[in-house]
Amino acid sequence: MTTDSASNPNASNSKDLRFVIMGAGMAGILSAIKLQEAGLDNYAIYEKADRLGGTWRENEYAGIACDVPSHMYCYSFAPNPDWSHRHSPGGEIQAYFEDVARRYEVEPRIQYNTEITRCEFVNGRWKVELSNGSTDEADFLIAATGVLHHPSYPNIEGLDSFGGASFHTARWNHDVPLAGKRIGIIGTGSSAIQITTALADQVGKLSLFQRTPQWIMPIENPPYSEEEKAEFRRNPAAMQKIRDDVTQQFIAGFANILHDLDSPMLKQIHTTCEANLEENVKDPELREKLRPNYRAACKRLIMSENFYDAIQSPNAELVTEGIERVEEKGVRTKDGRLHELDVLIIATGFKVDRFMRPMEVIGRDGLTLEDAWADGPFSYKAISIPEFPNLFMLNGPYGPVGNFSLIDVAEMQFSYIMQLVDQVRTGACKELGASRAATLEFDSERIEAAKKTIWASGCNSWYLDADGIPAAWPFTFDRFIDEMAKPHLDHYDMR
Ligand code: NAP
Repeated sequence: MTTDSASNPNASNSKDLRFVIMGAGMAGILSAIKLQEAGLDNYAIYEKADRLGGTWRENEYAGIACDVPSHMYCYSFAPNPDWSHRHSPGGEIQAYFEDVARRYEVEPRIQYNTEITRCEFVNGRWKVELSNGSTDEADFLIAATGVLHHPSYPNIEGLDSFGGASFHTARWNHDVPLAGKRIGIIGTGSSAIQITTALADQVGKLSLFQRTPQWIMPIENPPYSEEEKAEFRRNPAAMQKIRDDVTQQFIAGFANILHDLDSPMLKQIHTTCEANLEENVKDPELREKLRPNYRAACKRLIMSENFYDAIQSPNAELVTEGIERVEEKGVRTKDGRLHELDVLIIATGFKVDRFMRPMEVIGRDGLTLEDAWADGPFSYKAISIPEFPNLFMLNGPYGPVGNFSLIDVAEMQFSYIMQLVDQVRTGACKELGASRAATLEFDSERIEAAKKTIWASGCNSWYLDADGIPAAWPFTFDRFIDEMAKPHLDHYDMR
């Protein structure tokens, strides 16, 4: 795949090319492994926290699991025969990343507690400043900083006045006992639904404050037996078969039809969610409170085995009155009722437009990322930003996010990035980034396509940008696979 051109006098000695990887989450670990494999060992991987794992380190809330099946939600080159369940819990996923990082000898290379604070492109190289006061220099920056990273707190009056314990789902406080307590949860996204399901039976009272109902796609989550795990160990092709089957189901049943509102598959998703609601919620009043008035999969589709059981348990209450304010004793809703609480869980999601910020990034001719993204983050195919040469992103703006494994996405993106790096390795150029013209052309096509997706069919969600346009890959997944197979080098500004 990657070749040095020994005969080209401009070719770089690959061993000299230095890479700085931002972050040691799923995508950062992947980048380090792939660079090592390619013999590009001159890299640093900086991690602001004291542990690797990214989203799986940060999200330790009760009931956390991945709704993408585990044999799909892992690196293609590192299958895991020991997954406990079809959808394994978050702690297992975190342990998986720690194990892979150790086995592939990336872990000792991670510089923990080291935040990248500033990067500037000067004379063809990136000067990197770190929170510990030291500096680095790199030919390439790999931004592997994740998407759902910075907690978003609701603008609700009195939030700080709550007298009990309160924390965001991504800042779970394990010191706070929950058993037998009165728990409030604000939000009904994937995080809140998993928490509700995990806690409903354990707590004294659970109040779920719903602003907007969600469609729930029923899933099953059986454990893998010891015999099945032994078979996976003996015969890795059995794991691969599950991965391939699930991948095909995701692509054909969802990712390829997002833009086709009349497709029978999208209608089937809706029908399945509707039947789930009809069949599993007994009280007609509660059923109507839980019934969304938009199409299934408009918001990120929630998958759950037993949310409806949980919300119907005797100690759970779905609160649909709007929140007036938070007070010392609990949450007061607009009907004047005070919901007294011991613990308030903020499940209101993430600021999704941050990407590598608050890092200061300065590209060619002093252009800051803040200025480049003043009207919102944008990119060429989720990888590159004009005037920020040799900086490549994994899961950057407009990458595929909709209910798909971001690991597969990152693997495809990284192999694309390696082909860009090859242009420098082989001496075709010293620096490259997407041209402004190609980016603008891609963006106008993207916007038109995004307006026709299910995400734009009449609901509010974190997929939408400030103008209400879905900021995720709006084309088919097949097109993403094609695009990532080989860069159009004529779309790049190569110098
Ligand atoms: P989210 O989907 O953004 O949901 C936030 C929730 O908070 C929504 O229900 C929203 O209501 C509500 N909310 C926000 N501000 C509010 C306010 N001021 N007052 C009342 N309610 C408010 O966040 P999330 O649940 O953390 O999930 C984020 C994403 O993380 C998911 O979509 C998914 O991509 C990922 N995730 C994945 C998994 C997995 O298993 N793979 C699990 C968890 C999370 P509205 O709907 O009215 O805006």
